[in-house]
Amino acid sequence: MTNECIFCQIAGGKIPADIVYEDNDIVAFTDINPEAPVHLVIIPRNHIASLNDVEKKDTELLGRINMTAITLAKQRGLDKTGYRLVSNMGRQAGQTVDHVHYHLLGGRFMMWPPG
Ligand code: AMP
Ligand code: ZN
Repeated sequence: MTNECIFCQIAGGKIPADIVYEDNDIVAFTDINPEAPVHLVIIPRNHIASLNDVEKKDTELLGRINMTAITLAKQRGLDKTGYRLVSNMGRQAGQTVDHVHYHLLGGRFMMWPPG
């Protein structure tokens, strides 16, 4: 945990969030600035700054984050309509919080390619 990191603070219960799922390794919560009717953020509890910093030992964790996203999507009926699971890495991709996270977006039509 780093004191300055907003997602570490959410995972540690230091600042409030609408947490929809958590276990020992993963936390998922509603995005504070939703870009779709469903917009969840799924994070590892441990601080990893970006996908650049992921190591081989994190392979299972990343798989479990994917499985968590799929389950959360199904719980919301998005498996019937479609959804997008995306992780922004670095400034050009639009990463603003330097703690690995995946966006689960659904509930509306989306454009491709992304802007
Ligand atoms: P990114 O721009 O890909 O780094 O995504 C960061 C996301 O975190 C944005 O969609 C923000 O709206 C969201 N966010 C930032 N602060 C909070 C917060 N305190 N609670 C929930 N979501 C947040
Ligand atoms: Zn962090």
